[in-house]
Amino acid sequence: MTFKMFFAGAVAMLFGVVTPAQEWKSGVDWQEPPVVSPGHRNSDAPSDAIVLFDGTTLSEWDNGDQWVVEDGVAIPEKINISTKRSFADIQLHLEWAAPKTIEGDGQGRGNSGVFLMGLYEVQILDSYKNLTYFDGQAGSVYKQTPPMANAMRRPGKWNTYDIFFKTPEFATNGELIKPAYLTVLHNGILVQHHFELLGPTAYLEAPHYVAHADKGPIMLQNHHDAVRYRNIWVRELVPPQGHRVSAPFTLPAKADVAPADED
Ligand code: MG
Repeated sequence: MTFKMFFAGAVAMLFGVVTPAQEWKSGVDWQEPPVVSPGHRNSDAPSDAIVLFDGTTLSEWDNGDQWVVEDGVAIPEKINISTKRSFADIQLHLEWAAPKTIEGDGQGRGNSGVFLMGLYEVQILDSYKNLTYFDGQAGSVYKQTPPMANAMRRPGKWNTYDIFFKTPEFATNGELIKPAYLTVLHNGILVQHHFELLGPTAYLEAPHYVAHADKGPIMLQNHHDAVRYRNIWVRELVPPQGHRVSAPFTLPAKADVAPADED
């Protein structure tokens, strides 16, 4: 190896410089990702979100007229509410606060819940210095797994949930092909990391999958506690788009590389 080759190799290693012929390419012609304008704050709805509650009306929800909407918040009453729209894979943002005045304990204190596809519950509970079964506290996937941390703010203070949900997939004969997955940030803290759901939330029996539609509504639970909600929005998740135009280009095996000129 000449000094020139050694020097070029050293430069390439230092700066990651490779010649076009050596560069790995996926062979996929990717479409440009959509431009999305974020909200002013990260908790604000971005430009492609569907706003489900902006503090004024629950008109996006079936039975929304059964809940109380006042002073920019929504409070559970009488019945669960479900979005009129159905969703598959989503990113969901919502903000909630447990009642400032503490009443009850355990599951009886600040209980509500958000059900993805109307079936899979991320628990909402006042878990600030309020022990209950751990797979039933705030940030848990109810009766399936506790959160990795208790990120609860004190009663009356606002909490954020950012939920990322992947729907399950079923074969035409009803068999499960892929389970559902959940990732949850509670007040910006990762409490569920791509958790594999065992099935829909069940209270009296073990969770198990039963084939259902590709899309479902988001449901908020009325558990007879005056939990407050505000700022709820959802984004429908679309994978990056592209199509293969060639096989991936991979570096040839070493033996195939033509011997370098020696001078
Ligand atoms: Mg609940």
